[in-house]
Amino acid sequence: MADASYKAQPFWWDDLRPDAFRSTAGIEDLPGRCDVLIAGAGYSGMTAALTLARAGRSVVVADANRIAFGCSARNGGLIGPSFHKLGLSGLRAAYGAAKARDILRESMDTLAYLREFIRSEKIDCDLNDGGRFRGAVRREHYDSMAREAEALQGEVGLRFETVSKADQRSECGSDYFHGGIVYPDDGYLQPAKYAAGLAERARQAGVRFFAPAPVSDIRRNGRGFSARVGGRQIDAEQVLVATNGYTGKELPFFRRRIIPARSAIIATEELPGDVAASLSPKGRGLGDSSRLLVYMRMSSDNRRLIFGGRNFKLEDRPDIYVPDLRRLALRIFPQLGNFRVSHGWSGTVGFTFDYAPHIGQHDGVHYVMGFCGSGVGRASYYGRMAALQMAGDPA
Ligand SMILES: Cc1cc2nc3c(=O)[nH]c(=O)nc-3n(C[C@H](O)[C@H](O)[C@H](O)COP(=O)(O)OP(=O)(O)OC[C@H]3O[C@@H](n4cnc5c(N)ncnc54)[C@H](O)[C@@H]3O)c2cc1C
Repeated sequence: MADASYKAQPFWWDDLRPDAFRSTAGIEDLPGRCDVLIAGAGYSGMTAALTLARAGRSVVVADANRIAFGCSARNGGLIGPSFHKLGLSGLRAAYGAAKARDILRESMDTLAYLREFIRSEKIDCDLNDGGRFRGAVRREHYDSMAREAEALQGEVGLRFETVSKADQRSECGSDYFHGGIVYPDDGYLQPAKYAAGLAERARQAGVRFFAPAPVSDIRRNGRGFSARVGGRQIDAEQVLVATNGYTGKELPFFRRRIIPARSAIIATEELPGDVAASLSPKGRGLGDSSRLLVYMRMSSDNRRLIFGGRNFKLEDRPDIYVPDLRRLALRIFPQLGNFRVSHGWSGTVGFTFDYAPHIGQHDGVHYVMGFCGSGVGRASYYGRMAALQMAGDPA
C-alpha cells in the first residue's frame, strides 16, 4: 500500500448530501449586528447556537473554513463517558473527593446527554449502542484497567465486564491483546451525519451560518462586542469562541492555551464478509490501552474497518500515518491480509494543560474548548452548557 490510491478525505463525507454543510448566504449578507456571534461550527459551536436560538437569540455562526470542517466531521465517532486522564485517584489527589466525583459524574452525563439529544431530535447518524471493548496491550494494563473500572463503578456506577485473553475472541477478532474490558454503554455514530443533523436543527431554529468566514479582532464595544467576520464588521451582544484544536493566531489568548495534536484514521476497502464479521463479532467499538491510543470500529454498514490513532506529527503527513496505521491494523488483525486503504485523513484535536475541557469567559468573551481528543459527547454537552451560561440559565 505504498501508493496513494486512497482518497485523502474522511470516509464519512462520501455519505453526505452535497449541501449538508452549506453557508446560509454569501458573506455580503452578514448582518451588521446579532445577539450572539459564535466562532467555530463544530459540535460545540453548533450545539451552543441551537440552544441560544431556541432561547430566542439571533445567532450568527462563522467558520473559518466550512461548517464542520474541523474534528466534528472527521472523528472516529466512538462515544463513551471520556473520563479524565488522571483517573479516580489522580482526580481525588488534585481536587478532593467531592469534586472528583462531580467531575466523573459529569463525564457520565455527557454520554447520557448525547444519546438523549440524538434520539429526541431524531438525528439520523447511525447511532450504535453496541458497547466498546478496550484491549490491554500489556498484561499489567489488564489489571490496572480492571482496577480503575471497578473504582469507577463504585464511584459513579460505570458498567463494565472484564474479558480474559482466553475469552477475548468473542469480543474482538484478534489475539493481539492480553484481555480487556467491555464498556457496554459505549457505542459509536457516523460523525459527519451527526454534524449535518446538528447544522440542520440549528438552521431550523434560525441560526445563520457563514463560511468560509474567519472571526478575528474581537473587541469590546460599549456593552457588547465588535468583531471582524470574513473581513466584514459585526456587532454582537455576546461572543462565544468554539474553535478548539483549530484555534489560530487571530485568537491569540485561546491559541496560547490550546495544545493542538494530530489524530488520523484510515478506512479499509469493503472487506470479504467473513473477514469483516470476524473483527468485532458483537458489533462493539474497539480500542486499546497504548500511548498511541488506537481506536477502531466498523463502518455503519459493517463492511469496512475504520482504524485510527493519535499522537502523530502535528503537520498533516498522510504519507507517514496511512502506512503506519495500516501496519498496525494488520498486526492486530492479520486476517485483513493484503487489504487496500480506501480513505486516509486526519484532524487537529485540542488538548489543555490540565487535560480537562474548559468553559468560561475571558474579558467577557465566552469560550468552550479543550476536549483532549475525546469530544463527540463532551463538545456537544459543554457547548450546551456554555450556551446556558450565556443565557443566564442557573443550570
Ligand atoms: C481523526 C479524529 C478522530 C477522533 N475520534 C474521536 C472519537 O472517536 N470519539 C470522540 O469522542 N472524539 C473524537 N475526536 C475528537 C472530536 O472530534 C472533537 O473533540 C470534537 O469534534 C470537537 O468539536 P469542536 O466543536 O470543539 O471543534 P471542531 O469540530 O474542531 O471545530 C472547530 C472549528 O473552528 C473553526 N475555526 C478555527 N478558527 C476559527 C476562527 N478564527 N473563526 C471561525 N472559525 C474558526 C474551524 O474551521 C473548525 O471548523 C477525534 C478527532 C479527530 C481529528
